[in-house]
Amino acid sequence: MTPPSAITAKTAGPWVEIDLSAVCANYAMVRNGAPGAETAAVVKCDGYGLGAAAVAQVLATREKCRSFFVAYPEEGAALRAIFKNITPAPAIYVFNGPLPETTALFEQANLIPVLNNLEQAHKWADRKPDAPAVLHIDTGMNRLGAPASELAAIAALGSLRIEMVMSHLACASDPKHPKNTAQRKLFEELAQQFPGARRSLSASGGAMMSADYHYDLLRVGVALYGASPFDEEDNRIAPVAALKAPVVQVRQADRGETVGYGATHQVEGPARFATIALGYGDGFPRASSGRAHAFINGERARIAGVVSMDLITLDITKLKRPVKTGDIAEFFGPNLSIHDAAAACGTLPYELLTGLGGRVDRRYL
Ligand SMILES: *Cc1c(COP(=O)(O)O)cnc(C)c1O
Repeated sequence: MTPPSAITAKTAGPWVEIDLSAVCANYAMVRNGAPGAETAAVVKCDGYGLGAAAVAQVLATREKCRSFFVAYPEEGAALRAIFKNITPAPAIYVFNGPLPETTALFEQANLIPVLNNLEQAHKWADRKPDAPAVLHIDTGMNRLGAPASELAAIAALGSLRIEMVMSHLACASDPKHPKNTAQRKLFEELAQQFPGARRSLSASGGAMMSADYHYDLLRVGVALYGASPFDEEDNRIAPVAALKAPVVQVRQADRGETVGYGATHQVEGPARFATIALGYGDGFPRASSGRAHAFINGERARIAGVVSMDLITLDITKLKRPVKTGDIAEFFGPNLSIHDAAAACGTLPYELLTGLGGRVDRRYL
């Protein structure tokens, strides 16, 4: 029997096409734009929903990427297994620092923790003296990272080997935001307490900003996956993912009829609708109801009525070409930018990608 966690719909369901050469092109674009820095790949949350194994494998072999970041040690251990034939072995960093119960996993899988406060630093130094670690310094995000007040005590821990200090920008989605400069200045000042440690400030946003933000290592996530880290689209980034699903039924309806749950879509005159095998159960947000579009047979069609768990209805009344069962609708991809799709869903490409459900088949090009 198939375990319940392996819910997939390989037939007649939605899928996401993942262009791994575009992932490589995006990696190379960032790396070439920051020749003084190492470009590391962030593959947390299963490679932003697109498959950490496939993405890490292709970046390590084709692009010789040698540093990877994940959020949890379990994700790091899975990556270590994927890298078993790659030399030199890539470094795997874990953003969420170690807990007493995960220290063994860090050791077994040869993971480098990002220490986020004095207590973590203390415990790591006690348990794993002289093992390499990264220190996350908070420069204004107030989320994760050690406050300035703890740094002197951390620097004084004799058996702690901080190989890199990092921080994270709160407002890199807007390169002109004054907080970027403020955080950069504070980072430089605070990093002085760790002479000899490498420095890392930027994720995709800072990595694609001026060289002032590059330092020694870039932690690039969303740009690899084909989406802009900025509020605006950025044509330096190649699209990677295409979300597609088939038409399962085509219907006619007339004035006075309604479409979908809650009868929210009123039909104004003779109309045609195509029902698509994609829903919020696959991670396509219900908030896109009546707003987002799909690209079908060369034209755009808007969602009519509310998105349901397994199905979406498109208004195809005005399309020039006929639509039939089995035709394919694209919800984002080369023909419909993920930026626009996310905006129509009231969210960001980050959330759209990482929200893709287990039923969405991952197909690698
Ligand atoms: C997720 C994350 C990144 C990657 O961010 P992108 O905007 O996707 O490039 C980098 N650094 C930290 C600390 C993160 O949490």
